[in-house]
Amino acid sequence: MHNVSTLIFSRFKKYIDNSMKVEEFWIINWDGLPLFKYSPTRSLRIELIGGFLSAIQSFAKTVIEDERGQYLNTLTIGDHSYNFLTDEVYKLYFILKTSKKVKEKIINLYLQRFQDMFIEEFRKDLVAFDGDITPFESFDKQFVKTYDRLASLDTIKSAVTNEAILSKYKDRVLSNEYSPKQAVIQPIKFLKTMNTKDKIKFFTRILPKAASSILNVRTSFKTLQNNPDTPDKIASEEFIKELEEYAYSLGIGKFGYTKLTPNLVYKDSTILYPNIIVLMLEMDKDIIQTCPSFEAFKMIMNTYKLLNKAANKLADFLREHNFGAQAGPALGGVGNYVVLARNAGLGWTGSHGLLISPEYGPRQRLAILATSIENLPINNDEVNPHSWINDFCNKCGECIRECPGNAIYDDPIIKHTGYTHIDNSKCFPQFYNHYGCTVCIKKCFFSDEEYDYLKQKFFEKK
Ligand code: SF4
Ligand code: SF4
Repeated sequence: MHNVSTLIFSRFKKYIDNSMKVEEFWIINWDGLPLFKYSPTRSLRIELIGGFLSAIQSFAKTVIEDERGQYLNTLTIGDHSYNFLTDEVYKLYFILKTSKKVKEKIINLYLQRFQDMFIEEFRKDLVAFDGDITPFESFDKQFVKTYDRLASLDTIKSAVTNEAILSKYKDRVLSNEYSPKQAVIQPIKFLKTMNTKDKIKFFTRILPKAASSILNVRTSFKTLQNNPDTPDKIASEEFIKELEEYAYSLGIGKFGYTKLTPNLVYKDSTILYPNIIVLMLEMDKDIIQTCPSFEAFKMIMNTYKLLNKAANKLADFLREHNFGAQAGPALGGVGNYVVLARNAGLGWTGSHGLLISPEYGPRQRLAILATSIENLPINNDEVNPHSWINDFCNKCGECIRECPGNAIYDDPIIKHTGYTHIDNSKCFPQFYNHYGCTVCIKKCFFSDEEYDYLKQKFFEKK
């Protein structure tokens, strides 16, 4: 046991050592003037390198535009890659040097985050820029802090997709070609339209909750090292009861059990066990009615925080009893929890794409636990008792009419990964610019009225 743990840990560490490392980072303007540099291992004449990189980018732009009609994104020299992100509004290049082995997707994530932060912080200085680069010096601390945070998250996540580590999880479920992509939320984007007062509130009241959720996402990956090498697969009824009681004591309102299929795992993710416990936590009914509002935004972030924490505690509880576990956090999730909850018999999906449950309507957040326990009391109903909601939604359409972004469609959008009524490209701007929006939850009849009452009325009218 000890040797296997040591081996896993050393592979884990090796993987961390090999993953994303920012070797150098520059921000230069289109004239080649450097505004910022990060270069931990060598001292650079930035005034020389700035012009050089700008020239490369201009040259490469011409070459690549001829062939593909696009900007150059990456230039590989030896074992290193230089990756460019172009900001056309402020006429800047963000350039990141790293190992050529690092995936483009990860590099872009870093570059976009740095770009967002820099523009947000220095928008005024950029507009009034007269060649003085001293205001940008203060970006140093913020950059290093964000880089550290991104790096630790990224490396831990990457470790969970490392085949060498994963090989002990024989029943793990990998995503497939039908798996949905995870929508990535960028907290910094919420700031764009906030006034100064709300910005201060965002930093003091929302970010600590978001940070706690992110730490819990880290914990959910980190604690995988504690999984037993030969976990138990059968649990007694008493143990399941004990687990449920513990979950209630952590604030979980309801849970359900189901089996996982690959099309419910997010693209490029892995869930280590196919046996799923879905956890539901209610969002406050009265506060939802105030949305879009700062108050509602704060409450939702708090719900995520509590749910992520509870999922990790429950995973630890399972491990203490020699069962394997992976906490699937609510924020930074690993799969399609709404469909998992539906399959577990907890409710049905409304036109707004959210779970509608008898207990809370659409007012809940979901997390999961994947476990080695094979005899969970899985929902085996052939017909979901809540499927009547589909007909109700077809007649209702309130969320479609009330959505301020016109992001919910009457006719579903058919994708190869399934179908949805939501157009994320229209929802996200509303979501970022109006405190997480949530109008579709507020306006849904199931937010306000009792499930049984609506069901009765619906069938009376039929
Ligand atoms: S969050 Fe807002 S914009 Fe997005 S679907 Fe719901 S109501 Fe529409
Ligand atoms: S508002 Fe109406 S259509 Fe939209 S999810 Fe709720 S019940 Fe369904």
